[in-house]
Amino acid sequence: MSSTEAGALGALNPMQQAVVDALGKPQGWEPLPNEIVVGIADQLTDSLADVAEHFSVEKPLWVSKGKLTAIHGCETNFVASLDNFEWTLRNVKGTVLHKSIELGINWRGEPTPGDVVDEALAQLADDERSAGEFIEQLSPADRAQLRSMAIDAYSKFDECFPPLKNSWRPVLESSARVELFGGRINLSTRADLTLGAVGAKVIVDMKSGRVYPNHREELRFYALVESLRAGVAPRMLATYSLETARADVEPVTEGVLQAAARKTVDGIRQMAEVQLKLREPNLRPCTACYWCPLAETCEEGIAFIARRSDPDADDY
Ligand code: SF4
Repeated sequence: MSSTEAGALGALNPMQQAVVDALGKPQGWEPLPNEIVVGIADQLTDSLADVAEHFSVEKPLWVSKGKLTAIHGCETNFVASLDNFEWTLRNVKGTVLHKSIELGINWRGEPTPGDVVDEALAQLADDERSAGEFIEQLSPADRAQLRSMAIDAYSKFDECFPPLKNSWRPVLESSARVELFGGRINLSTRADLTLGAVGAKVIVDMKSGRVYPNHREELRFYALVESLRAGVAPRMLATYSLETARADVEPVTEGVLQAAARKTVDGIRQMAEVQLKLREPNLRPCTACYWCPLAETCEEGIAFIARRSDPDADDY
């Protein structure tokens, strides 16, 4: 997205213009030298060689944004959440929003948010690999609530983002994977939205609520995976709050990739230690208490939730 292209968009509202200003490629921008990415890749493999010996191609260690966030939060929650994913109204609304955006940017004409969300719900309900079964069995009241939340989120996206031109190469739910040590440790991501070509990508994460400091760290992991996969770093990371219509942007620098590599190595070591039962997982009350599988029985978590009154805890 260049400033010239942005000028060709016609009248944008102030929120859309702010997105163009925040995400546009500044004149004179230069990609990071590829040697930096090569150095980070070497650093990662040197640091994790001993951990990789505990895993195999048949039983690899899977590393995702969610798992890293969990292990750096409360390790007991991390262990309890392994193989324990369940669809809920809270997490499925993000899936409906992303499907709605995907349909909306390719829709001919000018559909209403309700039209787009209804089509997204219908398509997802038919998808057995995704949230289809969960959506199909929702009661009429829960389905109506989900539709209402999704229309609210999609309407905000529609208001806040400029029309996404094909030349910006918008991709929704873009997945990426890096296989380390021949597939014994796998890093995987699924970006809400990417813009731009490889080597100059902008990776965008959508939030229904406000932006928290850990969201930057989550996107840094995406930058690391994209860099290792493509051999070149993306250009920028952006967490976009639909509620506040603000983007928290961070250019991808050597320092950002170094920080992501350190955090990832630390997280992988912690995951390996608790998954392999080499030590007891720690207990650390945090925002994860709100959706932890142990929330109803964990005394520390119950006390933590009682102390907090954060209306934005229900984020996705
Ligand atoms: S309720 Fe909170 S403190 Fe307890 S295990 Fe879950 S995340 Fe950890």
